[in-house]
Amino acid sequence: MVEFDAIIVGAGPAGCACAYTLAKQQLKVLLIERGKFAGSKNMWGGALYGPVLGDLSPEFLKEAPIERYVKRRILSLLSEESYFSLESAVNNESPDVPQDGAIILRAKFDRWFAEKARKAGAILANGVQVEDLLWKDGSIVGVKVGKDEIHGSVVVACDGVNSILAQKAGLKAELNPVGVKQGVKEVIKLPLETIEQRFNIQGNEGIAWEFLGKCTRGLPGGGFIYTNKDSLSVGVVVQLNALLENKVKANDLLEDFKRQPVVARLIDGGTLVEYSSHLIPTYGVSSTSRLFSDRFLITGDAAGLVLGTGLILEGANFAIASGIAAAKAIVRAKETGDFSAKALSHYQRLLEDNFVLKDFKTFKKMTHVLENPRLYSTYPDLVCSLWHKIHTNDGNPRKSVRQLLKEELKGRVSWWQLARDLIHMGGSL
Ligand SMILES: Cc1cc2nc3c(=O)[nH]c(=O)nc-3n(C[C@H](O)[C@H](O)[C@H](O)COP(=O)(O)OP(=O)(O)OC[C@H]3O[C@@H](n4cnc5c(N)ncnc54)[C@H](O)[C@@H]3O)c2cc1C
Repeated sequence: MVEFDAIIVGAGPAGCACAYTLAKQQLKVLLIERGKFAGSKNMWGGALYGPVLGDLSPEFLKEAPIERYVKRRILSLLSEESYFSLESAVNNESPDVPQDGAIILRAKFDRWFAEKARKAGAILANGVQVEDLLWKDGSIVGVKVGKDEIHGSVVVACDGVNSILAQKAGLKAELNPVGVKQGVKEVIKLPLETIEQRFNIQGNEGIAWEFLGKCTRGLPGGGFIYTNKDSLSVGVVVQLNALLENKVKANDLLEDFKRQPVVARLIDGGTLVEYSSHLIPTYGVSSTSRLFSDRFLITGDAAGLVLGTGLILEGANFAIASGIAAAKAIVRAKETGDFSAKALSHYQRLLEDNFVLKDFKTFKKMTHVLENPRLYSTYPDLVCSLWHKIHTNDGNPRKSVRQLLKEELKGRVSWWQLARDLIHMGGSL
């Protein structure tokens, strides 16, 4: 009977990073993916932030199938009549700095990443769905695939947001719609020149454009557009319980979003080449009781490691960093032959020492702020209307900005409420 050092379930960013790191250390690794190839079932906005990929190998940054680098970021508030945008740009000529975001299509990226793990020595099993954990004398000893039993010293759950394995191991409750967002996205193909012209970009420059307000009919969430090489990723992300309570379908919101004049102009003439829908864990790491047990580790989305602060949505860098940390803990456990929870708790310490758990600590109050419904309707409307009135000249004597603001606030939100919201937002950021 073959016994693997590690069985890694799920070839997303977490699983590929873990498998690659272990295979590089000559461990016997099995990477199992239910999709017919890694990435075939995966989606995101999206951009990869930070230097994590380069941590695995400096070559990866040159080789990875990166569509474009984020040169400009735009945040637009949408109201019925107008929109208001904040825009920032990186000033360097060639923005090939992944810290600012590398725009990626997951079907290409995950496939490339899994292949890297395979070439490093991991066995990659595509099209195989793990159904259960394999137990012996109360301890996890592998996984079950149909009638087959696969044995390993440690199992790493990299199986994403609805981690069946973390639930079977008793470390996680069933998914609760309150702590989850639904993302729906279309990839819309357009000629490269059209994209460059419409977005005023060239070479490897790209744009990450986020929207708040009317695009989600006031429900907590937002819209996004990312420029790929010759396509656009256009989608919305909305709190799942709000969709269920209001009987709204995420796809209808996406259609609304695409009809917004600012969006409609950008996607005009494009061809739909891909539609996908996926959940995002926004409950934070706290809903997972522990990230390790005897012979078992949880990483990435399975562990709830997605940071959504309203200003940023990052998960893939957390998934990769946690996959690397899990691998380091396993290498250490292999050296001593001890795969107990105590030995594997080294994983948690590694996450506490790097940005992963530190970032969650820094932004722990953010989820409460993001529950504020005024962020998604009142404030976008108010800002758009105020800005419009400041710049409207109807021939009458002008009102002061303070007076206009007072009029805008009237009946919508009190000064006191506004001050409280600003203090809360400032404090949580
Ligand atoms: C709409 C949207 C926008 C996003 N935007 C961004 C962004 O811009 N930047 C960012 O950093 N993050 C973003 N994220 C979050 C990011 O996509 C995730 O955090 C990241 O993909 C998590 O990686 P993972 O490897 O943990 O899980 P996943 O990527 O979900 O991978 C899990 C893998 O496990 C496989 N699997 C599951 N169950 C089994 C099983 N039983 N047997 C075998 N295989 C299995 C799946 O097929 C999948 O390949 C976004 C997410 C969404 C939905």
